[in-house]
Amino acid sequence: MIYRALLFLISVNVFAQPTSSNIFAHNDYEKKEPFTKAFGLHVGYIEADIFLKDGALLVAHTAAEISKTKTLENLYLQPLQKQLSGSGYSESSPLALMIDLKTAGKETLGALVQLMASYPDLANSKSLRITISGNMPDASTWSDYPNYIFFDGRPGNSYTAAQLQRINLVSASFRDYTQWNGKGELTSADRKQLLAVIQKVHAWGKPIRFWAIPDFTNAWIKLNKLGVDILNTDEVEQLHAFLAKWSSSTYQNKTPHATYQPIGQWKEGQRPKNLIIMIGDGAGLAQFYSGYTANRGKLNVFQIPMVGFSITNSSDSYITDSAAGATAIAAGTKTKNRFIGVDSTGKRLPLLTYKLKKKKYQTAIISNGDITDATPASFYAFQPERIMSEEIALDFIQSDVDLLMGGGLKSFQQRKDGKKLFDVLRQKGYQTTSNFGTIDTLTSMKFVVLDDSAVIAKKKGRGDFLIRSLNKSLDVFTKSNSPFFIMLESAQIDWGGHNNDLEYVVTEVLDFDQTIAEALKFADQNKETLILITADHETGGLSLIDGDIQTGYVHGSFSTNDHTGIMVPVFAYGPGAEVFKGIHQNTELYHLLMELFLIK
Ligand code: MG
Ligand code: ZN
Repeated sequence: MIYRALLFLISVNVFAQPTSSNIFAHNDYEKKEPFTKAFGLHVGYIEADIFLKDGALLVAHTAAEISKTKTLENLYLQPLQKQLSGSGYSESSPLALMIDLKTAGKETLGALVQLMASYPDLANSKSLRITISGNMPDASTWSDYPNYIFFDGRPGNSYTAAQLQRINLVSASFRDYTQWNGKGELTSADRKQLLAVIQKVHAWGKPIRFWAIPDFTNAWIKLNKLGVDILNTDEVEQLHAFLAKWSSSTYQNKTPHATYQPIGQWKEGQRPKNLIIMIGDGAGLAQFYSGYTANRGKLNVFQIPMVGFSITNSSDSYITDSAAGATAIAAGTKTKNRFIGVDSTGKRLPLLTYKLKKKKYQTAIISNGDITDATPASFYAFQPERIMSEEIALDFIQSDVDLLMGGGLKSFQQRKDGKKLFDVLRQKGYQTTSNFGTIDTLTSMKFVVLDDSAVIAKKKGRGDFLIRSLNKSLDVFTKSNSPFFIMLESAQIDWGGHNNDLEYVVTEVLDFDQTIAEALKFADQNKETLILITADHETGGLSLIDGDIQTGYVHGSFSTNDHTGIMVPVFAYGPGAEVFKGIHQNTELYHLLMELFLIK
Protein backbone atom coordinates (compact mmCIF):
# COMPACT_ATOMS: atom_id res chain seq x y z
CA MET A 1 0.00 0.00 0.00
CA ILE A 2 1.36 3.38 -0.91
CA TYR A 3 1.31 5.91 1.87
CA ARG A 4 1.84 9.39 0.52
CA ALA A 5 2.88 10.38 3.99
CA LEU A 6 6.20 8.71 3.33
CA LEU A 7 6.51 10.01 -0.19
CA PHE A 8 5.63 13.45 0.99
CA LEU A 9 8.75 13.48 3.11
CA ILE A 10 10.86 12.60 0.08
CA SER A 11 9.56 15.17 -2.35
CA VAL A 12 6.42 17.15 -2.91
CA ASN A 13 6.80 16.65 -6.65
CA VAL A 14 6.53 12.92 -6.57
CA PHE A 15 3.05 11.60 -7.09
CA ALA A 16 2.83 7.91 -6.83
CA GLN A 17 1.33 5.43 -9.16
CA PRO A 18 -1.83 4.16 -7.51
CA THR A 19 -2.66 0.45 -7.53
CA SER A 20 -5.68 -1.61 -6.58
CA SER A 21 -4.55 -1.27 -2.93
CA ASN A 22 -5.60 2.38 -3.23
CA ILE A 23 -9.17 1.53 -4.26
CA PHE A 24 -12.01 1.90 -1.77
CA ALA A 25 -15.04 -0.09 -2.89
CA HIS A 26 -17.83 2.17 -1.66
CA ASN A 27 -21.07 0.42 -0.60
CA ASP A 28 -19.75 -2.86 -1.94
CA TYR A 29 -22.81 -4.79 -0.74
CA GLU A 30 -25.02 -2.90 -3.22
CA LYS A 31 -23.08 -4.28 -6.19
CA LYS A 32 -24.15 -7.12 -8.44
CA GLU A 33 -21.44 -9.34 -7.03
CA PRO A 34 -20.79 -8.08 -3.52
CA PHE A 35 -17.44 -9.00 -2.00
CA THR A 36 -16.36 -11.40 -4.81
CA LYS A 37 -15.68 -8.76 -7.44
CA ALA A 38 -13.81 -6.27 -5.27
CA PHE A 39 -11.95 -9.03 -3.42
CA GLY A 40 -10.99 -10.67 -6.72
CA LEU A 41 -9.59 -7.35 -7.95
CA HIS A 42 -7.59 -7.11 -4.75
CA VAL A 43 -8.86 -3.68 -3.77
CA GLY A 44 -7.50 -2.24 -0.54
CA TYR A 45 -10.81 -1.33 1.10
CA ILE A 46 -14.23 -3.01 0.92
CA GLU A 47 -17.11 -1.23 2.61
CA ALA A 48 -20.27 -2.61 4.19
CA ASP A 49 -22.88 -0.62 6.10
CA ILE A 50 -24.32 -2.54 9.02
CA PHE A 51 -27.36 -2.36 11.26
CA LEU A 52 -27.83 -4.12 14.55
CA LYS A 53 -31.35 -5.58 14.58
CA ASP A 54 -32.68 -8.18 17.03
CA GLY A 55 -29.12 -9.16 17.90
CA ALA A 56 -28.11 -9.71 14.24
CA LEU A 57 -25.67 -7.62 12.17
CA LEU A 58 -27.38 -6.93 8.86
CA VAL A 59 -25.90 -5.30 5.79
CA ALA A 60 -27.99 -2.55 4.20
CA HIS A 61 -27.87 1.07 3.14
CA THR A 62 -31.01 2.18 5.00
CA ALA A 63 -33.15 0.61 7.70
CA ALA A 64 -35.90 0.11 5.12
CA GLU A 65 -33.66 -2.11 2.99
CA ILE A 66 -32.78 -4.53 5.77
CA SER A 67 -33.18 -8.17 4.88
CA LYS A 68 -32.62 -11.03 7.31
CA THR A 69 -30.61 -13.05 4.78
CA LYS A 70 -28.10 -10.28 4.14
CA THR A 71 -25.96 -10.65 7.22
CA LEU A 72 -22.42 -9.48 7.73
CA GLU A 73 -21.53 -13.14 8.25
CA ASN A 74 -23.10 -14.41 4.99
CA LEU A 75 -21.84 -11.64 2.80
CA TYR A 76 -18.38 -11.00 4.22
CA LEU A 77 -17.11 -12.98 7.19
CA GLN A 78 -17.79 -16.44 5.80
CA PRO A 79 -16.32 -15.84 2.35
CA LEU A 80 -13.34 -14.10 3.97
CA GLN A 81 -12.82 -17.06 6.30
CA LYS A 82 -12.66 -19.33 3.24
CA GLN A 83 -10.67 -17.15 0.88
CA LEU A 84 -8.41 -14.77 2.76
CA SER A 85 -5.40 -17.01 3.07
CA GLY A 86 -3.79 -17.51 -0.31
CA SER A 87 -5.66 -14.50 -1.74
CA GLY A 88 -2.54 -12.36 -2.09
CA TYR A 89 -3.54 -9.95 0.66
CA SER A 90 -0.70 -9.73 3.17
CA GLU A 91 0.53 -7.73 6.13
CA SER A 92 2.15 -5.21 3.80
CA SER A 93 -0.88 -5.19 1.50
CA PRO A 94 -3.83 -5.92 3.77
CA LEU A 95 -7.54 -5.79 3.06
CA ALA A 96 -9.47 -3.27 5.11
CA LEU A 97 -12.99 -4.51 5.71
CA MET A 98 -14.65 -1.17 6.29
CA ILE A 99 -17.64 -1.61 8.58
CA ASP A 100 -19.81 1.48 8.66
CA LEU A 101 -21.95 1.39 11.78
CA LYS A 102 -25.46 2.66 10.99
CA THR A 103 -26.94 1.92 14.44
CA ALA A 104 -25.64 3.02 17.87
CA GLY A 105 -21.86 2.66 17.95
CA LYS A 106 -21.28 1.07 21.32
CA GLU A 107 -23.98 -1.60 20.96
CA THR A 108 -23.29 -2.39 17.33
CA LEU A 109 -19.56 -2.64 17.79
CA GLY A 110 -20.11 -4.73 20.92
CA ALA A 111 -22.18 -7.16 18.85
CA LEU A 112 -19.45 -7.26 16.20
CA VAL A 113 -16.77 -8.10 18.75
CA GLN A 114 -18.98 -10.90 20.06
CA LEU A 115 -19.50 -12.22 16.54
CA MET A 116 -15.78 -12.09 15.77
CA ALA A 117 -15.18 -14.58 18.59
CA SER A 118 -16.41 -17.18 16.09
CA TYR A 119 -13.83 -16.03 13.55
CA PRO A 120 -10.50 -16.21 15.37
CA ASP A 121 -8.55 -16.75 12.12
CA LEU A 122 -9.86 -13.47 10.77
CA ALA A 123 -9.37 -11.64 14.07
CA ASN A 124 -5.76 -12.80 14.20
CA SER A 125 -4.94 -12.31 10.52
CA LYS A 126 -2.37 -9.67 9.64
CA SER A 127 -3.83 -9.58 6.11
CA LEU A 128 -7.12 -8.17 7.35
CA ARG A 129 -7.89 -4.92 9.11
CA ILE A 130 -11.41 -4.66 10.43
CA THR A 131 -11.95 -0.92 10.33
CA ILE A 132 -14.88 0.80 11.97
CA SER A 133 -16.53 3.85 10.46
CA GLY A 134 -19.87 5.63 10.75
CA ASN A 135 -21.26 5.77 14.31
CA MET A 136 -17.88 5.14 15.88
CA PRO A 137 -17.70 5.11 19.69
CA ASP A 138 -15.71 7.97 21.13
CA ALA A 139 -11.96 7.71 20.60
CA SER A 140 -11.43 7.71 24.39
CA THR A 141 -13.08 4.25 24.51
CA TRP A 142 -11.15 2.66 21.61
CA SER A 143 -8.70 0.97 23.93
CA ASP A 144 -11.63 -1.01 25.38
CA TYR A 145 -11.90 -2.93 22.10
CA PRO A 146 -9.65 -5.77 20.93
CA ASN A 147 -6.52 -4.80 19.01
CA TYR A 148 -7.77 -6.19 15.70
CA ILE A 149 -10.38 -3.41 15.61
CA PHE A 150 -9.19 -0.30 13.75
CA PHE A 151 -10.97 2.99 13.22
CA ASP A 152 -11.58 5.54 10.49
CA GLY A 153 -10.19 8.89 11.68
CA ARG A 154 -11.59 12.36 10.99
CA PRO A 155 -9.25 15.22 10.11
CA GLY A 156 -11.13 17.66 12.36
CA ASN A 157 -10.57 15.57 15.50
CA SER A 158 -7.46 15.42 17.61
CA TYR A 159 -6.02 12.11 18.69
CA THR A 160 -3.54 10.87 21.24
CA ALA A 161 -0.58 8.84 20.02
CA ALA A 162 -2.31 5.68 21.29
CA GLN A 163 -5.50 6.57 19.46
CA LEU A 164 -3.59 7.28 16.24
CA GLN A 165 -2.24 3.75 16.42
CA ARG A 166 -5.80 2.47 16.15
CA ILE A 167 -6.52 4.57 13.06
CA ASN A 168 -6.23 2.75 9.73
CA LEU A 169 -7.15 5.67 7.52
CA VAL A 170 -8.66 9.12 7.77
CA SER A 171 -11.81 10.05 5.85
CA ALA A 172 -13.65 13.26 5.12
CA SER A 173 -16.42 14.50 2.91
CA PHE A 174 -15.04 16.05 -0.27
CA ARG A 175 -17.95 18.47 -0.16
CA ASP A 176 -16.67 20.03 3.06
CA TYR A 177 -13.80 21.44 0.98
CA THR A 178 -14.99 21.93 -2.59
CA GLN A 179 -17.92 21.73 -4.96
CA TRP A 180 -15.60 20.69 -7.82
CA ASN A 181 -17.42 18.51 -10.36
CA GLY A 182 -14.31 16.62 -11.42
CA LYS A 183 -13.90 18.28 -14.83
CA GLY A 184 -10.80 20.28 -15.58
CA GLU A 185 -8.91 21.67 -12.60
CA LEU A 186 -9.84 22.65 -9.05
CA THR A 187 -9.91 26.34 -8.26
CA SER A 188 -6.72 27.39 -6.53
CA ALA A 189 -8.62 28.28 -3.34
CA ASP A 190 -10.23 24.83 -3.16
CA ARG A 191 -6.96 23.19 -4.01
CA LYS A 192 -5.26 24.99 -1.16
CA GLN A 193 -7.92 23.89 1.32
CA LEU A 194 -7.69 20.30 0.18
CA LEU A 195 -3.90 20.31 0.30
CA ALA A 196 -4.02 21.62 3.85
CA VAL A 197 -6.17 18.76 5.08
CA ILE A 198 -4.24 16.17 3.08
CA GLN A 199 -0.98 17.42 4.56
CA LYS A 200 -2.43 17.38 8.06
CA VAL A 201 -3.43 13.72 7.69
CA HIS A 202 -0.10 12.82 6.12
CA ALA A 203 1.65 14.46 9.05
CA TRP A 204 -0.20 11.91 11.23
CA GLY A 205 1.35 9.22 8.99
CA LYS A 206 -2.07 8.14 7.75
CA PRO A 207 -3.60 7.74 4.30
CA ILE A 208 -6.59 9.89 3.42
CA ARG A 209 -9.85 9.17 1.64
CA PHE A 210 -12.63 11.54 0.65
CA TRP A 211 -16.17 10.38 0.15
CA ALA A 212 -18.59 12.09 -2.23
CA ILE A 213 -15.87 12.62 -4.82
CA PRO A 214 -16.44 12.94 -8.57
CA ASP A 215 -15.90 9.40 -9.78
CA PHE A 216 -14.28 9.26 -13.22
CA THR A 217 -10.91 9.39 -14.96
CA ASN A 218 -10.02 13.06 -14.71
CA ALA A 219 -11.04 13.24 -11.06
CA TRP A 220 -9.01 10.12 -10.23
CA ILE A 221 -5.94 11.62 -11.90
CA LYS A 222 -6.27 14.98 -10.19
CA LEU A 223 -7.02 13.51 -6.76
CA ASN A 224 -4.00 11.25 -7.04
CA LYS A 225 -1.87 14.24 -7.94
CA LEU A 226 -3.12 16.15 -4.92
CA GLY A 227 -1.91 13.31 -2.75
CA VAL A 228 -5.22 11.59 -2.00
CA ASP A 229 -4.14 8.05 -1.14
CA ILE A 230 -7.42 6.21 -1.31
CA LEU A 231 -9.87 6.59 -4.17
CA ASN A 232 -13.47 6.12 -3.05
CA THR A 233 -15.42 4.64 -5.95
CA ASP A 234 -18.64 3.05 -7.07
CA GLU A 235 -16.89 2.12 -10.34
CA VAL A 236 -14.50 -0.46 -8.97
CA GLU A 237 -13.96 -2.30 -12.23
CA GLN A 238 -13.40 0.85 -14.31
CA LEU A 239 -11.03 2.33 -11.75
CA HIS A 240 -9.18 -0.96 -11.45
CA ALA A 241 -8.80 -1.23 -15.24
CA PHE A 242 -7.62 2.38 -15.41
CA LEU A 243 -5.01 1.90 -12.69
CA ALA A 244 -3.85 -1.39 -14.21
CA LYS A 245 -2.90 0.55 -17.36
CA TRP A 246 -1.32 3.44 -15.47
CA SER A 247 2.32 2.47 -15.85
CA SER A 248 2.09 1.62 -19.55
CA SER A 249 0.13 4.85 -20.19
CA THR A 250 2.47 7.28 -18.46
CA TYR A 251 6.00 8.39 -19.15
CA GLN A 252 8.39 10.99 -17.83
CA ASN A 253 11.39 11.88 -19.96
CA LYS A 254 14.45 12.52 -17.80
CA THR A 255 16.82 13.38 -20.66
CA PRO A 256 15.31 16.01 -22.97
CA HIS A 257 17.25 16.76 -26.14
CA ALA A 258 18.25 20.20 -27.35
CA THR A 259 16.53 21.30 -30.54
CA TYR A 260 17.99 22.81 -33.68
CA GLN A 261 16.71 26.17 -34.88
CA PRO A 262 16.32 25.89 -38.64
CA ILE A 263 17.43 28.87 -40.73
CA GLY A 264 15.15 28.36 -43.71
CA GLN A 265 17.13 30.27 -46.35
CA TRP A 266 16.04 29.09 -49.72
CA LYS A 267 14.88 31.28 -52.55
CA GLU A 268 11.22 32.00 -53.10
CA GLY A 269 9.88 29.92 -55.98
CA GLN A 270 13.03 27.82 -56.13
CA ARG A 271 12.66 24.14 -57.09
CA PRO A 272 14.06 21.44 -54.83
CA LYS A 273 16.78 19.18 -56.14
CA ASN A 274 16.97 16.55 -53.41
CA LEU A 275 14.15 14.85 -51.52
CA ILE A 276 14.03 13.34 -48.04
CA ILE A 277 10.76 11.71 -47.04
CA MET A 278 10.59 10.82 -43.35
CA ILE A 279 7.68 8.62 -42.33
CA GLY A 280 6.78 8.15 -38.70
CA ASP A 281 4.75 4.97 -38.90
CA GLY A 282 1.67 5.48 -36.75
CA ALA A 283 2.66 9.03 -35.81
CA GLY A 284 -0.51 11.09 -35.39
CA LEU A 285 -0.76 14.48 -33.77
CA ALA A 286 -1.02 13.00 -30.26
CA GLN A 287 2.16 11.00 -30.80
CA PHE A 288 4.05 14.14 -31.85
CA TYR A 289 2.52 16.14 -29.02
CA SER A 290 3.40 13.48 -26.44
CA GLY A 291 6.99 13.82 -27.67
CA TYR A 292 6.75 17.60 -27.43
CA THR A 293 5.50 17.33 -23.84
CA ALA A 294 8.12 14.77 -22.86
CA ASN A 295 10.85 16.94 -24.40
CA ARG A 296 9.77 19.89 -22.19
CA GLY A 297 7.92 21.87 -24.84
CA LYS A 298 10.21 21.66 -27.81
CA LEU A 299 10.61 19.42 -30.84
CA ASN A 300 12.65 19.87 -33.97
CA VAL A 301 9.69 18.92 -36.10
CA PHE A 302 7.57 21.65 -34.49
CA GLN A 303 10.09 24.25 -35.70
CA ILE A 304 8.85 23.60 -39.22
CA PRO A 305 6.33 26.28 -40.10
CA MET A 306 4.77 24.66 -43.16
CA VAL A 307 2.16 22.22 -41.91
CA GLY A 308 -0.62 20.32 -43.58
CA PHE A 309 -2.75 17.26 -42.95
CA SER A 310 -3.04 14.01 -44.82
CA ILE A 311 -6.21 11.93 -45.15
CA THR A 312 -5.07 8.34 -44.95
CA ASN A 313 -7.96 6.00 -45.82
CA SER A 314 -7.20 3.19 -48.27
CA SER A 315 -9.26 2.15 -51.30
CA ASP A 316 -11.06 -0.56 -49.37
CA SER A 317 -11.07 0.70 -45.80
CA TYR A 318 -11.78 3.77 -43.71
CA ILE A 319 -8.67 2.75 -41.79
CA THR A 320 -5.53 2.08 -43.78
CA ASP A 321 -2.67 -0.24 -42.99
CA SER A 322 0.96 0.64 -43.64
CA ALA A 323 0.95 -1.05 -47.05
CA ALA A 324 -1.81 1.03 -48.60
CA GLY A 325 -0.73 4.06 -46.54
CA ALA A 326 2.84 4.02 -47.85
CA THR A 327 1.83 3.02 -51.39
CA ALA A 328 -0.36 6.14 -51.53
CA ILE A 329 2.70 8.31 -50.84
CA ALA A 330 5.08 6.25 -52.96
CA ALA A 331 2.78 5.89 -55.96
CA GLY A 332 -0.07 8.40 -55.73
CA THR A 333 -2.84 5.83 -55.85
CA LYS A 334 -5.16 4.57 -53.14
CA THR A 335 -4.94 0.82 -53.02
CA LYS A 336 -6.24 -1.98 -50.85
CA ASN A 337 -4.88 -2.72 -47.41
CA ARG A 338 -2.00 -5.23 -47.56
CA PHE A 339 -1.10 -4.21 -51.17
CA ILE A 340 2.49 -3.07 -51.78
CA GLY A 341 3.23 -0.84 -54.80
CA VAL A 342 0.30 -2.23 -56.78
CA ASP A 343 -3.19 -0.88 -57.40
CA SER A 344 -6.47 -2.47 -56.26
CA THR A 345 -6.38 -4.80 -59.25
CA GLY A 346 -2.81 -5.87 -58.53
CA LYS A 347 -1.21 -3.83 -61.33
CA ARG A 348 2.24 -2.33 -60.73
CA LEU A 349 2.24 1.37 -59.93
CA PRO A 350 4.79 4.00 -61.03
CA LEU A 351 6.76 4.31 -57.79
CA LEU A 352 8.38 7.63 -56.95
CA THR A 353 11.69 5.85 -56.34
CA TYR A 354 11.77 4.48 -59.90
CA LYS A 355 10.66 7.78 -61.40
CA LEU A 356 13.55 9.52 -59.65
CA LYS A 357 15.99 6.73 -60.56
CA LYS A 358 15.14 7.43 -64.19
CA LYS A 359 16.17 11.03 -63.59
CA LYS A 360 19.58 9.79 -62.35
CA TYR A 361 18.78 10.20 -58.67
CA GLN A 362 20.70 8.24 -56.10
CA THR A 363 18.33 6.59 -53.66
CA ALA A 364 18.39 5.29 -50.12
CA ILE A 365 15.82 3.42 -48.08
CA ILE A 366 16.20 3.32 -44.30
CA SER A 367 13.97 1.76 -41.66
CA ASN A 368 14.34 0.76 -38.05
CA GLY A 369 11.92 -2.07 -38.80
CA ASP A 370 12.38 -4.95 -41.20
CA ILE A 371 13.33 -3.51 -44.55
CA THR A 372 10.77 -5.78 -46.26
CA ASP A 373 7.96 -4.48 -44.02
CA ALA A 374 5.12 -2.64 -45.71
CA THR A 375 6.35 0.94 -45.35
CA PRO A 376 9.83 0.65 -46.88
CA ALA A 377 8.68 -2.10 -49.27
CA SER A 378 6.11 0.21 -50.84
CA PHE A 379 8.98 2.37 -52.10
CA TYR A 380 10.65 -0.44 -54.09
CA ALA A 381 8.43 -3.54 -54.37
CA PHE A 382 5.28 -4.72 -56.10
CA GLN A 383 3.36 -7.41 -54.24
CA PRO A 384 -0.33 -8.03 -53.59
CA GLU A 385 0.38 -9.19 -50.03
CA ARG A 386 2.60 -7.47 -47.50
CA ILE A 387 3.76 -10.66 -45.75
CA MET A 388 5.51 -11.93 -48.91
CA SER A 389 8.83 -10.74 -47.55
CA GLU A 390 11.00 -13.06 -49.67
CA GLU A 391 9.32 -11.87 -52.87
CA ILE A 392 9.69 -8.29 -51.63
CA ALA A 393 13.43 -8.87 -51.08
CA LEU A 394 13.70 -10.18 -54.65
CA ASP A 395 12.00 -7.00 -55.86
CA PHE A 396 14.72 -5.04 -54.12
CA ILE A 397 17.37 -6.78 -56.24
CA GLN A 398 15.58 -5.44 -59.32
CA SER A 399 15.07 -1.97 -57.89
CA ASP A 400 18.60 -0.59 -58.28
CA VAL A 401 18.10 1.40 -55.07
CA ASP A 402 21.62 2.42 -54.00
CA LEU A 403 21.56 2.23 -50.22
CA LEU A 404 19.49 0.02 -47.97
CA MET A 405 19.69 0.14 -44.18
CA GLY A 406 17.44 -1.66 -41.73
CA GLY A 407 16.50 -4.93 -40.09
CA GLY A 408 15.15 -8.05 -41.75
CA LEU A 409 18.29 -9.96 -42.70
CA LYS A 410 16.30 -13.19 -42.79
CA SER A 411 14.43 -12.42 -46.04
CA PHE A 412 17.78 -11.87 -47.76
CA GLN A 413 20.05 -14.45 -46.19
CA GLN A 414 18.00 -17.16 -44.45
CA ARG A 415 15.41 -17.75 -47.12
CA LYS A 416 13.18 -20.78 -47.59
CA ASP A 417 14.44 -21.06 -51.18
CA GLY A 418 18.03 -21.20 -49.94
CA LYS A 419 19.14 -18.22 -52.04
CA LYS A 420 21.70 -15.88 -50.51
CA LEU A 421 20.71 -12.48 -51.82
CA PHE A 422 23.87 -10.84 -50.51
CA ASP A 423 25.81 -12.89 -53.11
CA VAL A 424 23.50 -11.61 -55.84
CA LEU A 425 23.85 -8.05 -54.57
CA ARG A 426 27.64 -8.25 -54.50
CA GLN A 427 27.63 -9.40 -58.13
CA LYS A 428 25.64 -6.26 -58.85
CA GLY A 429 28.29 -4.11 -57.22
CA TYR A 430 26.88 -3.65 -53.73
CA GLN A 431 28.82 -3.89 -50.52
CA THR A 432 26.82 -5.93 -48.03
CA THR A 433 27.00 -6.42 -44.30
CA SER A 434 24.93 -7.64 -41.38
CA ASN A 435 26.96 -5.56 -38.94
CA PHE A 436 25.67 -2.03 -38.64
CA GLY A 437 28.69 -1.19 -36.48
CA THR A 438 30.89 -1.30 -39.59
CA ILE A 439 28.83 1.25 -41.53
CA ASP A 440 31.55 3.91 -41.38
CA THR A 441 34.00 1.56 -43.12
CA LEU A 442 31.76 1.12 -46.18
CA THR A 443 33.27 2.97 -49.12
CA SER A 444 31.02 1.88 -51.98
CA MET A 445 28.38 4.12 -53.54
CA LYS A 446 26.00 1.16 -53.25
CA PHE A 447 25.52 -0.89 -50.12
CA VAL A 448 23.05 -2.97 -48.17
CA VAL A 449 23.24 -3.07 -44.36
CA LEU A 450 20.75 -5.41 -42.73
CA ASP A 451 21.32 -5.78 -39.02
CA ASP A 452 18.56 -6.87 -36.70
CA SER A 453 19.95 -4.61 -33.98
CA ALA A 454 18.20 -1.87 -35.99
CA VAL A 455 14.89 -3.34 -34.89
CA ILE A 456 15.53 -3.18 -31.14
CA ALA A 457 13.20 -0.68 -29.47
CA LYS A 458 14.86 2.62 -28.59
CA LYS A 459 13.88 2.12 -24.93
CA LYS A 460 15.68 -1.23 -25.01
CA GLY A 461 18.91 0.23 -26.30
CA ARG A 462 18.77 0.58 -30.09
CA GLY A 463 21.14 3.51 -30.06
CA ASP A 464 21.42 6.00 -32.91
CA PHE A 465 20.67 3.77 -35.88
CA LEU A 466 18.39 6.28 -37.62
CA ILE A 467 20.71 9.26 -37.24
CA ARG A 468 23.79 7.34 -38.34
CA SER A 469 21.97 5.82 -41.32
CA LEU A 470 20.71 9.19 -42.45
CA ASN A 471 24.08 10.88 -42.02
CA LYS A 472 25.90 8.07 -43.81
CA SER A 473 23.50 8.37 -46.77
CA LEU A 474 23.99 12.12 -46.87
CA ASP A 475 27.78 11.61 -46.79
CA VAL A 476 27.67 9.18 -49.69
CA PHE A 477 25.33 11.34 -51.76
CA THR A 478 27.13 14.62 -51.26
CA LYS A 479 30.33 13.00 -52.53
CA SER A 480 28.74 12.58 -55.95
CA ASN A 481 27.11 15.52 -57.61
CA SER A 482 23.88 13.77 -58.59
CA PRO A 483 20.57 14.52 -56.88
CA PHE A 484 19.22 12.09 -54.31
CA PHE A 485 16.12 10.71 -52.69
CA ILE A 486 16.04 9.24 -49.18
CA MET A 487 13.04 7.52 -47.65
CA LEU A 488 13.59 7.10 -43.91
CA GLU A 489 11.03 5.34 -41.75
CA SER A 490 10.72 5.53 -37.98
CA ALA A 491 8.84 2.24 -37.87
CA GLN A 492 8.34 1.63 -34.20
CA ILE A 493 6.12 4.55 -33.22
CA ASP A 494 3.50 2.24 -34.70
CA TRP A 495 4.63 -0.70 -32.59
CA GLY A 496 4.36 1.33 -29.41
CA GLY A 497 0.81 2.23 -30.46
CA HIS A 498 -0.12 -1.38 -31.15
CA ASN A 499 1.29 -2.30 -27.73
CA ASN A 500 -0.53 0.60 -26.02
CA ASP A 501 2.84 1.46 -24.50
CA LEU A 502 3.31 5.19 -24.09
CA GLU A 503 6.99 5.03 -23.17
CA TYR A 504 7.57 3.06 -26.37
CA VAL A 505 5.70 5.66 -28.43
CA VAL A 506 7.41 8.66 -26.86
CA THR A 507 10.96 7.29 -26.97
CA GLU A 508 10.50 6.43 -30.65
CA VAL A 509 9.06 9.88 -31.41
CA LEU A 510 12.02 11.53 -29.67
CA ASP A 511 14.49 9.38 -31.62
CA PHE A 512 12.68 10.32 -34.84
CA ASP A 513 12.79 13.98 -33.84
CA GLN A 514 16.54 13.90 -33.27
CA THR A 515 16.92 12.36 -36.72
CA ILE A 516 14.77 15.14 -38.14
CA ALA A 517 17.25 17.68 -36.70
CA GLU A 518 20.02 16.10 -38.79
CA ALA A 519 17.90 16.38 -41.92
CA LEU A 520 17.11 20.03 -41.14
CA LYS A 521 20.78 20.87 -40.58
CA PHE A 522 21.68 19.27 -43.88
CA ALA A 523 18.89 21.09 -45.72
CA ASP A 524 20.05 24.42 -44.27
CA GLN A 525 23.55 23.86 -45.60
CA ASN A 526 22.51 22.37 -48.89
CA LYS A 527 19.62 24.78 -49.63
CA GLU A 528 18.26 22.52 -52.43
CA THR A 529 16.70 19.78 -50.33
CA LEU A 530 13.02 19.33 -49.62
CA ILE A 531 12.11 17.42 -46.45
CA LEU A 532 8.66 15.93 -46.14
CA ILE A 533 7.75 14.49 -42.74
CA THR A 534 4.49 12.65 -42.29
CA ALA A 535 2.84 9.40 -41.22
CA ASP A 536 1.06 6.63 -43.06
CA HIS A 537 -1.69 6.59 -40.40
CA GLU A 538 -2.21 6.99 -36.67
CA THR A 539 -1.84 3.97 -34.38
CA GLY A 540 -3.48 3.37 -31.00
CA GLY A 541 -6.15 6.09 -31.02
CA LEU A 542 -3.92 7.93 -28.60
CA SER A 543 -5.24 10.87 -26.64
CA LEU A 544 -3.44 12.78 -23.93
CA ILE A 545 -5.34 12.95 -20.65
CA ASP A 546 -2.66 14.55 -18.50
CA GLY A 547 0.79 16.01 -18.87
CA ASP A 548 3.31 18.50 -17.58
CA ILE A 549 5.60 20.33 -19.98
CA GLN A 550 7.84 21.53 -17.10
CA THR A 551 8.68 18.01 -15.99
CA GLY A 552 8.30 16.16 -19.29
CA TYR A 553 5.51 14.01 -17.88
CA VAL A 554 2.71 12.70 -20.08
CA HIS A 555 -0.28 10.44 -19.46
CA GLY A 556 -1.94 8.94 -22.51
CA SER A 557 -5.04 6.90 -23.17
CA PHE A 558 -5.20 4.46 -26.06
CA SER A 559 -8.61 3.73 -27.53
CA THR A 560 -7.55 0.78 -29.69
CA ASN A 561 -4.58 -1.51 -30.27
CA ASP A 562 -4.80 -0.89 -34.01
CA HIS A 563 -4.69 1.94 -36.53
CA THR A 564 -7.31 4.70 -36.63
CA GLY A 565 -8.85 6.79 -39.39
CA ILE A 566 -7.79 10.23 -38.10
CA MET A 567 -5.79 12.57 -40.38
CA VAL A 568 -2.06 12.79 -39.78
CA PRO A 569 0.19 15.85 -39.92
CA VAL A 570 2.49 16.73 -42.81
CA PHE A 571 5.52 18.94 -42.18
CA ALA A 572 7.40 20.29 -45.18
CA TYR A 573 10.73 22.12 -45.12
CA GLY A 574 12.85 23.45 -47.95
CA PRO A 575 12.20 24.72 -51.47
CA GLY A 576 8.63 23.91 -52.50
CA ALA A 577 7.45 23.29 -48.94
CA GLU A 578 4.55 25.71 -49.23
CA VAL A 579 2.58 23.48 -51.62
CA PHE A 580 2.00 21.01 -48.80
CA LYS A 581 0.03 23.36 -46.56
CA GLY A 582 -3.65 22.56 -46.14
CA ILE A 583 -5.51 19.29 -46.11
CA HIS A 584 -4.64 16.68 -48.73
CA GLN A 585 -5.41 13.14 -49.60
CA ASN A 586 -2.26 11.07 -48.90
CA THR A 587 -2.03 10.39 -52.63
CA GLU A 588 -1.84 14.12 -53.31
CA LEU A 589 1.58 14.24 -51.61
CA TYR A 590 2.92 12.14 -54.48
CA HIS A 591 1.33 14.29 -57.16
CA LEU A 592 2.65 17.48 -55.56
CA LEU A 593 6.13 15.93 -55.56
CA MET A 594 5.73 14.99 -59.23
CA GLU A 595 5.03 18.63 -60.05
CA LEU A 596 7.81 20.00 -57.86
CA PHE A 597 10.42 17.62 -59.26
CA LEU A 598 9.11 18.00 -62.84
CA ILE A 599 8.47 14.29 -63.19
CA LYS A 600 6.38 13.14 -66.11
MG1 MG B 1 6.08 0.57 -41.10
ZN1 ZN C 1 0.68 -0.73 -37.61
